[in-house]
Amino acid sequence: MSSKQLALFTFVDAFGWRIFQEHSFLADRLRTAQPLETILGYSCACDPTIITGQLPNVHGHFSFFCYDPDNSPFGTCRWLSLLPQTITKRGRVRRQISKLVQRMNGYTGYFQIYNVPFNRLPEFDYSEKRDIYQPGGLNNGTPTIFDYLRRNNVPFHLSDWRRNEQHNIADMRAQIRQGDIRYGYLYLAELDGVMHADGTQSPRVGEKIAWYDNQFRQLLDEAEEHYDEVRLYVFSDHGMADVTRNCDLVSEIDELGLVFGRDYAAMYDSTMGRFWFLNDSAEGRIRARLRELDYGRILTDDELSQWGADFADRRYGDAMFLLNPGALITPSFMNHTHVPGMHGYDPSHEDSVALFASTAAVDKPPQRLDDLYDLMKAEVDRCGGPRPEPLDETTAALSYATA
Ligand SMILES: [Zn+2]
Repeated sequence: MSSKQLALFTFVDAFGWRIFQEHSFLADRLRTAQPLETILGYSCACDPTIITGQLPNVHGHFSFFCYDPDNSPFGTCRWLSLLPQTITKRGRVRRQISKLVQRMNGYTGYFQIYNVPFNRLPEFDYSEKRDIYQPGGLNNGTPTIFDYLRRNNVPFHLSDWRRNEQHNIADMRAQIRQGDIRYGYLYLAELDGVMHADGTQSPRVGEKIAWYDNQFRQLLDEAEEHYDEVRLYVFSDHGMADVTRNCDLVSEIDELGLVFGRDYAAMYDSTMGRFWFLNDSAEGRIRARLRELDYGRILTDDELSQWGADFADRRYGDAMFLLNPGALITPSFMNHTHVPGMHGYDPSHEDSVALFASTAAVDKPPQRLDDLYDLMKAEVDRCGGPRPEPLDETTAALSYATA
């Protein structure tokens, strides 16, 4: 008789290697803890890479917005630019409008219009239209670890990313108590929110990590009651840096007097300005202005290809200007004021580096986010397979409840 095993993969958004080292977390339970290289971009680039083992230039997800006026779903937003700024700048108003646009288009993924000006929205397409955790969720049809689980009929439980941490942990514990699942993917995103709001040195960060420590101990104890072998893996997508400088990149470019949509287009993410050049003279002038700025640099083709952020169709920009760690585009098309903590800097900077930890000794630990997939796949084979049952997509998607 083979032993009953559980592999529990826990994703903790923004729990970087530096933050991990500054706090006490499962110290006596972990047998593996090491830095994990991240990739360029935000969670919308990192998370698809984790669940597919592919880089953005393969799975097609890099940033939420790309210049594509012919396919923009935001045409109806143009009239909203006529409303006074006192209304359109309000976060609550923009969240309601996000919900409305999402419903109108039937999008199932994470959707937010953020701070993108309403008169610019109709020039952009949105990249995460579908729930990436569901079958067919990736833009280029890249299969995920969850497709592998479904195909192999392995009983698993996947958290609902729309729900809060208390709910997701309670849900996982209930599944573990039943003892049917062989594989779990627990999704926890609130530490990221705490550090964006308060920075990495806030006491709330330590409190949150202590809370995780406590919750994971209970989870482990419970799992060990119901399984012969339990291996807990904890990993993140990136770290977090404290913001030390606000940079008005938007004004630097606006001052050139070029026409948005005729000469160029730009998307101002929090730490990256992405530019599409619509004529040669605009390209020359924008590149020259960017080279004068001391708070960032234009990424080279070599860097972009090394990070898998080179796209043949230049969908995410003809040029990307990346800010130095700690610098923030303020206001950007993401935030209109200062934000104390931010990520999305050079992946090799110490504040960017992610975490990989486990209660198991891991022979060949993953080096970068895209290596996690092979480890997860090996665990699926070890815990769940091989299974003789015929393929049945409906029963295989055991317990993922969509909200
Ligand atoms: Zn974040």
